[in-house]
Amino acid sequence: MTDTLFARIDAARDDLIALTQDLVRVPTLNPPGALYHDICAYLERRLAASGFDCQMIRATGAPGDSDRYPRWNVIARRDGTRSGECVHFNSHIDVVEVGRGWTYDPFAAVLEGDRIYGRGTCDMKGGLAASIIAAECFIAEHPDYAGAIEISGTADEETGGYGGVAHLAHLGYFSPDRVQHVIIPEPLNKDRICLGHRGAWWAEIETKGEIAHGSMPFLGDCAVRHMGAVMRAFEDRLFPSLTTRETAMPVTPEAARQSTLNINSIHGGEAELEDFTGLPAPNVPDSCRMVIDRRFLVEEAYDEVRGEVIAMLDDLKANRPRFDYTIRDINRIDPSMTSQEAPVVTTVAAAIQDVFGREPAYIASPGSYDQKHIDRIGRLKNCIAYGPGVLELAHKPDEWVGVTDMLDSAKVMARSLETLLLPEA
Ligand SMILES: [Zn+2]
Repeated sequence: MTDTLFARIDAARDDLIALTQDLVRVPTLNPPGALYHDICAYLERRLAASGFDCQMIRATGAPGDSDRYPRWNVIARRDGTRSGECVHFNSHIDVVEVGRGWTYDPFAAVLEGDRIYGRGTCDMKGGLAASIIAAECFIAEHPDYAGAIEISGTADEETGGYGGVAHLAHLGYFSPDRVQHVIIPEPLNKDRICLGHRGAWWAEIETKGEIAHGSMPFLGDCAVRHMGAVMRAFEDRLFPSLTTRETAMPVTPEAARQSTLNINSIHGGEAELEDFTGLPAPNVPDSCRMVIDRRFLVEEAYDEVRGEVIAMLDDLKANRPRFDYTIRDINRIDPSMTSQEAPVVTTVAAAIQDVFGREPAYIASPGSYDQKHIDRIGRLKNCIAYGPGVLELAHKPDEWVGVTDMLDSAKVMARSLETLLLPEA
């Protein structure tokens, strides 16, 4: 049974290439979140022709949603001939900015040898195309399957997913009574299963001062020096402590198995004006702002992560003359970790064994992806990321996806459908 399924997928090679190229040629850049309606309408046409019922859902009012850049999502469902479980493939349809350093046209989707080049080939239109081919070939092979297959194309993953998966999850599309298994075909290499991701806390810290003439700084109070004291506290106390905390999650790369903090930006003093060529005015800055990005482990509690930084700031406030600060939370993402014994994990692991003749590697992601919303809002724990593409190519110039990798992971996905939707087989 499996052999004819795999032959069917191999025979769909040209279709898979054309589908991937069509998707990449719609430049769904985010920000601003362009052309979501175009790509959703394309997916709707494609999947309706394969017997799916499709819905277009706009996340009206979500961050970034506007009449100029509406946040459209498409969700397609095809019920089998009898009751059973629902397997959902979720892909984000947005791509990040092009950036510098390309030798290929980023939206031409040039096929060269086994590779298709372009922004979004790897992250993750190649994975979306592979899941569509997998579902179509499975349906053609087993028209009498049980349960249901869903495929969604969702907005804004690259900017937090609030106009995409989070919105659909709030509407109930990822509740466990509706969907039982979720596979997110992010580019994590075709023989690895990604179980989850670390958490994140982003915040902006502002230190206060008093403006004065720069020739007489003693008449003011320098907010940048106060921020220097914050940096010193981080260097002396926080960073050394973070490196001692290790997670049991199989985060790849290994260096990300500890807690980390990045200082995303610091800004103090006069604004830098792009169209001004004169000298800066000599002022003592009365404000300095720092944006921090603290990535935390499944073993750490959010309140402790945040409380640790606030305790350091309060300590400075108590001990450093004239020190004052405010802190503003920007974003909170809780860690997510699916059990290695979860049914979707053991199913995909067995399929990887079938296709590649070896055990999968289990990993977790240093950064987050849409699993966070499926876990926290949808309350669905049976979710993984699995898909073609080399993780290190994501967001880079001359990003590409391998056609053979897409075919191989389509086989893993289709084999997983056989396991989950042909219960008596
Ligand atoms: Zn992605």
